[in-house]
Amino acid sequence: MKPTEIAPDVYWLGFAVANVYLVGEKAGPWVVVDTSTPGHFEAIKSAAEEVYGLGAKPDAIILTHAHFDHYGSALPLATYWNVPVYAQRLDLPYLTGKARLAPGDPTTDGFFAFAARFLPDSGTDLGEFVHVLPDDDSLPGMPGWRRISTPGHTPGHASLFREGDRTLIAGDAVLTVNLDKLPDLVRKEQEVSRPPTPLTYDWPSARRSVQTLAELRPQGIASGHGTPMTGDAVADKLAEFAQDFAAPKYGRYVAEPARFDENGAVFVPPPPPDYLKGALAGLGLAALIGLGIYALSRRGDDDEGGMRRPIAVGPMRIEDLEG
Ligand SMILES: [Zn+2]
Repeated sequence: MKPTEIAPDVYWLGFAVANVYLVGEKAGPWVVVDTSTPGHFEAIKSAAEEVYGLGAKPDAIILTHAHFDHYGSALPLATYWNVPVYAQRLDLPYLTGKARLAPGDPTTDGFFAFAARFLPDSGTDLGEFVHVLPDDDSLPGMPGWRRISTPGHTPGHASLFREGDRTLIAGDAVLTVNLDKLPDLVRKEQEVSRPPTPLTYDWPSARRSVQTLAELRPQGIASGHGTPMTGDAVADKLAEFAQDFAAPKYGRYVAEPARFDENGAVFVPPPPPDYLKGALAGLGLAALIGLGIYALSRRGDDDEGGMRRPIAVGPMRIEDLEG
């Protein structure tokens, strides 16, 4: 994985699912921000050594939030380097094995929601490596940067901002690729976009967080997903996006947000019916019936001179397939 410097001393590692950033001067303290999905230990370690030198060790790993595609490779890296992993307080239960985050919502708006049926629930145990970020807005190992609390996508979501050149590491509070549209996703088209819809548990907070970030007038946005955006136009694009911010039209967390405290979820709205799941189950069953009929008909072929018996298939309802 080739590190790309997107702002002074900010290196982007663009893995297939989620981004990783290496932040810090070669001579000074440096950190790893987010660790993508599991399986990237080797790639992140080598990229870090390419930038900071063989055997270099960061001061910390900082997680913007406790989703599996951000903490995925954190444990092997923290163990190898023996460094702390920081996150905001309200996301800690999902990094210490205390609780699982609220379930994803496959019934909501956008292409990525479809994929939520196949995503793991977020929650892991990084053990003794986990630490809460300082109460002031400082960030360990990141002089010149400050923490901006951006809840909504997750309750303890944090964004990181460097006033000096107005660089924003936004996690999933705002994205630079539209996960709702498959063609945009495939083309990796740069576009200021809302957080991943099936995994955002509080839309009013998500909207406020985007407004908070827009007020910073960033010159560069480095998000958890998408190719980072830089340049003079970025601040206006984000301001426009914040102005017109739209939650999904429907979905489990749209009418009423989930609520969380320091121990985990205290209220999760009930799941809406997943009609597509029923349809998919129906398709699966139809395929099975088709295979069964085919197998029976083949058996008929083996009967020398035997008569083909008609096979009766009764009416089938999708409701029969559930439960
Ligand atoms: Zn996320």
